[in-house]
Amino acid sequence: MSSTSASSEARAPWEPRTHAPASAIGTVVRGLTLAMGLAAAPFGWAQTAETGIVVVDGDVLLASRNLAIPVEGVTAAMLRDTFFDSRDGHRHEAIDIAAPRGAKVFAVDDGRLVKLFTSVPGGLTVYQFDPQGRLAYYYAHLDRYADGLREGMSLHRCDLLGYVGVSGNAPPGSPHLHFAVFRLEAERQWWKGMPVNPYLALTRSASKAANAPAAASLTGRPSAQMPRLEGNKACG
Ligand SMILES: [Zn+2]
Repeated sequence: MSSTSASSEARAPWEPRTHAPASAIGTVVRGLTLAMGLAAAPFGWAQTAETGIVVVDGDVLLASRNLAIPVEGVTAAMLRDTFFDSRDGHRHEAIDIAAPRGAKVFAVDDGRLVKLFTSVPGGLTVYQFDPQGRLAYYYAHLDRYADGLREGMSLHRCDLLGYVGVSGNAPPGSPHLHFAVFRLEAERQWWKGMPVNPYLALTRSASKAANAPAAASLTGRPSAQMPRLEGNKACG
């Protein structure tokens, strides 16, 4: 369950959080979503008689996406859930994926590249939206961007974004990708949203990938006929 204290202080883009009273929204939406079933998730928004437009829980939205593991050479078993770790007095609200400097960083999903942003803590960063513009994916501490990367371009899952580095406030001896997901608000501003833990979505996608080839051989169908088989695996 994503929730955060209702702080009124301004927050930097590298640390996307919401100022909304998260507990109230989350409770209403979780209940609504459960009542409607997962069929509600693809639409992203749901109408209620009492309140009008309600934001569907980011965890539910993320569960409907088939995320790729965004770092070259990293498997699901190597991922650690660091979402709830403390960082400089606040909750991390992201996962750190350790990798050698220069390892490739890939897009976890299809969707538009919304912002290339350089910040003191995040260093070289990428903000990408999901195809419906309901979730934002945030990649930080890059060593450099991939050639040809530009704001507004359409990305496909596993497109090369850049390379693992230590830009921003990453410890020089610990290159890693800081990867965060947040649920965008109605205005769909790239710097504002409700943090969502990506750990389960990343590890679940990877386990599906491991099962996909076996399923293809059991049915005797050529793998080329399996829908999205190519996408159901880690990048690189
Ligand atoms: Zn981090």
